[in-house]
Amino acid sequence: ATPVSIMTATGRGAQAGVLIKNAEALERFARVDILIVDKTGTLTAGKPALVAVLPEAGHDEADVLRLAASLERGSEHPLAEAIVQGAEARNVTPEDATDFEAVTGKGVKGRVGGRDVALGNVALLADLGLDSTQFTATANERRDQGETVMFVVVDGRIAGLVAVADPIKPTTADAIRELHAQGFRIVMATGDNERTARAVASRIGIDEIRADVLPEDKARIVAELQAEGHRVAMAGDGVNDAPALARADVGIAMGTGADVAIESAGITLVKGDLNGIVRARRLAEMTMRNIR
Ligand code: ADP
Ligand code: MG
Repeated sequence: ATPVSIMTATGRGAQAGVLIKNAEALERFARVDILIVDKTGTLTAGKPALVAVLPEAGHDEADVLRLAASLERGSEHPLAEAIVQGAEARNVTPEDATDFEAVTGKGVKGRVGGRDVALGNVALLADLGLDSTQFTATANERRDQGETVMFVVVDGRIAGLVAVADPIKPTTADAIRELHAQGFRIVMATGDNERTARAVASRIGIDEIRADVLPEDKARIVAELQAEGHRVAMAGDGVNDAPALARADVGIAMGTGADVAIESAGITLVKGDLNGIVRARRLAEMTMRNIR
């Protein structure tokens, strides 16, 4: 590569908030054919809000929310923030929790006011030996709106559901269309439920999804596609995306995301806007053309 063309490209990128780590990242990005995108914080705003608390018969709405928020004060997950802020907005005051434990990709556990409380997804319920089939219809109604449903377990029984919504970034749908036109095959990877993922994906024109994935699975999905001969870029914002960003031919971090994600990336999008990927691809192609 001629250093001048690379410098021109990285300079132009930087002006537009697309930070390219080095020449290698740019050269590799020109050859990428599959782009994997994380959902939360990458396609969506990453600022989820509590939209519903659905107590099970015999349980009080405020009580279910209080127990959930009491636990989530110990978590740094965006979903936790949504629940804590949702409680605050509804004048529900959390209590102190003890024995707090975060279960990666599944939820949180602990004790609140002498009760065993857990909050999370179906995988967490399975770990606790609980069956959620009787709640499936209610949960699916929310998931079909693109909402994330979490189950609140109190002393070994499901006490209610909480639903959280994270709006799709206004720039996402157009950027996805452009990226498809640039020849990328696009795969959404998310720790979220398949149904929720499908609802979000269909609204922005993504037809390939990998849902219910654990953080280590994201890196494995990258590796599997590479083993099939693909050049893979991965875009994500979270701590849980860092291994996949590092594994990818090119990692793309949202500048609005976690520091560890940014450190693992070859390209950082300062504004966290997917149009930055469209721009990076144009710059990469221009550079490669100049070289030949
Ligand atoms: P994502 O790819 O969406 O960032 P995560 O792996 O962080 O996914 O989380 C996957 C799922 O695990 C969430 O959709 C949620 O159901 C559950 N979960 C994770 N952390 C929490 C938490 N602090 N509270 C409740 N549920 C959680
Ligand atoms: Mg994320």
